This record gives sequence, structure tokens and C-alpha cells, in this order.
Amino acid sequence: MAIAGGGFAGRALALALAKLAPQGFRVALIDTEAAQTSGAADARALALTAATKNLLAALDLWEQLAPSAQAIEAIEITDSPLNAALRPHFLGFDTELKHDGAMAYIVEHGVLSRVLAGAVARTEAIEIFAPDTVADYAADAFKVTVKLGSGKTIEASLLVAADGKRSRLRERAGIKCVGWSYPQIGIVTTVAHARAHHGKAVQHFLPSGPFAMLPLTGNRCSIVWTEDRARGEAIMALDEAGFLAELSKRFGFRLGEISLAGPRQSFPLDMQIARAFVADRLALIGDAAHVVHPLAGQGLNIGMRDVAALAETLVEATRLGLDIGSAATLERYSRWRRFDSAFSAAVMDGLNRLFSNDNAPLRTLRDLGLGLVDRAPALKRFLVSEAAGATGTLPRLLKGERI
Ligand SMILES: Cc1cc2nc3c(=O)[nH]c(=O)nc-3n(C[C@H](O)[C@H](O)[C@H](O)COP(=O)(O)OP(=O)(O)OC[C@H]3O[C@@H](n4cnc5c(N)ncnc54)[C@H](O)[C@@H]3O)c2cc1C
Repeated sequence: MAIAGGGFAGRALALALAKLAPQGFRVALIDTEAAQTSGAADARALALTAATKNLLAALDLWEQLAPSAQAIEAIEITDSPLNAALRPHFLGFDTELKHDGAMAYIVEHGVLSRVLAGAVARTEAIEIFAPDTVADYAADAFKVTVKLGSGKTIEASLLVAADGKRSRLRERAGIKCVGWSYPQIGIVTTVAHARAHHGKAVQHFLPSGPFAMLPLTGNRCSIVWTEDRARGEAIMALDEAGFLAELSKRFGFRLGEISLAGPRQSFPLDMQIARAFVADRLALIGDAAHVVHPLAGQGLNIGMRDVAALAETLVEATRLGLDIGSAATLERYSRWRRFDSAFSAAVMDGLNRLFSNDNAPLRTLRDLGLGLVDRAPALKRFLVSEAAGATGTLPRLLKGERI
């Protein structure tokens, strides 16, 4: 089979099929960027759920990642205007997070990218075509013929589009998306601070968007800062001292003196769901299928659900002697993933709309809601298991089982 796109989703699927499938798939993995550099310069860190950790452990990668992964030990949520003298605590998770390993871990983008790239390079059953690009493809009743920018041609039973949110393959298949761009940008950077964070993640809901402080190993936090587009671009244009001053207003002083410990980058934010996840001999995974607001750090985790569900579907089809690119096989994958992804995107969108405004009555209502949740231990445990990616019809790899 062939996979277009060697981001996290494409690499994880290639590894799952080449290393874990009992039938041992042969995979062609095509990426526009050279394998060593792909994803290396990204300033983001990723919140990986316990379910995604299970998938990475099944791929034998968690041991390598663990020293660089910071477990989330506590979460605090506040909701206040930027100039508020106090940021009252509305909702917190602490003991609920400590039942069965951590609910989530924060890992830097470059670290995860390097570990996945290394594993792909060491796996003989994966043939890498990079830097190269999938320029076009044509499907018939028996196979899909994939044409690369270099002029090479690959024949496979199935082509997987893991080529990101501007997926060329999705467009080529005539699949439209439902969605919109947010009038916000996401600013990311890394901050070093004097005092220990003790694994606490903090989410400040501010009127122009959520400001998240995600604990990294050592005395460092990764910042995911959603801001109105015009204001965000002005902040990005500031010199280092000006940028740090704006950052400090939001970060606060409880972790002592802060300094920038990494580059700053900004990302456009979108919500996007493909109207179909499959077409003739084509399956969409990761951001090619869905893009969600980053406020709960779920985008890649939802993509890993696609990876695990598609791997399990393809292994099952092969076991039954079925064609992995047939409409029946692909329909099973689509039924499994489409509703779940659309639901997650709608929840993230709803949260962003509910919190990213300065409407006083709405603030009173939502703070009342957060306060009520804070006093309901059973509901809090449910929310933790939802955020750990442990609810719904989970594919086996996400439960730590074999395919
Ligand atoms: C600010 C921000 C913070 C985030 N934080 C989190 C978080 O904490 N947790 C989380 O789970 N998610 C998070 N996300 C989302 C997460 O980063 C994405 O969901 C994830 O990176 C998508 O991975 P992907 O492999 O699907 O796509 P991509 O990473 O976009 O990979 C696509 C790949 O396809 C290649 N490609 C493109 N076109 C072609 C072609 N024609 N032929 C061959 N190759 C091609 C590209 O080179 C690229 O390598 C965040 C997103 C943002 C913007």
C-alpha cells in the first residue's frame, strides 16, 4: 500500500502496518520533505493522551520518548479578563488524574518527529520516497496507480491520504470539506521559569482566546496562546522584550522569573471536516480528514484514532482474504471514524465560542457551570477518561492490545 504524507499520522500508520500487522504489509511512504528534516523545526509541543501513548508503546517507541515526556499531574482552568487582578480557580483536576497512569503527556514536536522518523528508517518493509510528492493518482477495480513528482510510479491496493489539512489528494478525489477559519491565530513558544511546575497544566480562558501553559520536562512550559488575528500578528511582530512583556501579562508570576527558551511561531486556526473519509481506493487520515481548534490539544490524538482504526480494519480485511482497497473495507473504516471526528471538532468549536468573548452574563453562566463540575467527582472522572482518549469504540492499539 502507499501513504502520501510522512507527518505523524502517515509515519504511525506505516509503522503499525509494517511492524505490527501479522501479515506484514509492504508500505511506500511519500513525503515532500526530506525524512530527516520533516517536522524538526516546529516550535509546538503536543499533548498526547494515554490512548496515543498506548499506540506509541505498541510501536515500541514509548521507551525512547518517556525521558522527554512530561506527565500531566494536575490541571487548572480559569476564566477572566486579561487585566483581572486575580484569576480565580474555577475547575481543577488533581487526584482524578492519578488513578491509572497519567491522563496525558506533553512531548515536543521535534522529539516525536525524530523518534518516528528513526523508526521508519529502521523498518525494512517501509520504502521511503522523500523528498518527493504525490502529484496524481488513478484508481481502477484492482489497484491504484500513484504518480510522483519525480516521475516515478507506484502501484498499490490502497492509497492513504495523510497529506495534512490542505490535502491535495482529498481535492483530487473531489471530496469537499465543511468548516471555517477562526478569526484567531495560535502563537506557540517555550518558556523557562524559576520555580517547578509540578506537572500542572494551566488553561486561562481569556476573552480573545485560551492561553495554555503545558508543562515540559525541567522548569519549562510550552505555550499555546490563541489571540485575535490582528492583535496576534502585532504581538508576533514585537521585539523579544515586547513579546516577553505581553507573554508575562498572561503567564503570571507564580512560577517566578520567566525567559524565552525557544523560537516563537504562529499558526492559522481552522475547523474542517471532510465530507467523506474515503473514495475509490483512497482513505483519509489525520489533518487531511479533520482539523480541530487546538484548545484541548486533541488534533493529533484524533488522527491517531484514525491510524489505529484503519490499521485494525486493514488487518481484519486481510485476515478474511478481502481486498484492502475495496469499497466494503473502506466503508467500515469510514463508519468507525467520521462521526467521532465530527463530534470532537464540534465540541472544540463550541468551547472556543463559549469562552472566547467578553460577555459578562455568559461569563457568569459558564463560571457557574465550571464551579458545578468542580464539585462533581463522578463527572470529573468521566471528563478525565474522555480527555485521556479512553471513551467510545476504541481500536485495539489504543487500548494497548495487539491487532
Ligand atoms: C497551535 C497548535 C497546537 C497543537 N497542539 C496539539 C496538541 O497538543 N495535541 C494534539 O494532539 N494535536 C495538536 N495540534 C494538532 C496537530 O499538530 C496536528 O493534528 C498534526 O500535526 C497533524 O498531523 P498529520 O500527520 O495529519 O498532518 P501534517 O503534520 O500536516 O503532515 C502532512 C505531511 O504531508 C506531507 N505532504 C503534503 N502534501 C503532500 C503530497 N502531495 N505528497 C506527499 N507528501 C505531502 C507534508 O510534507 C507533511 O509532512 C496542534 C495544532 C496547532 C496548530
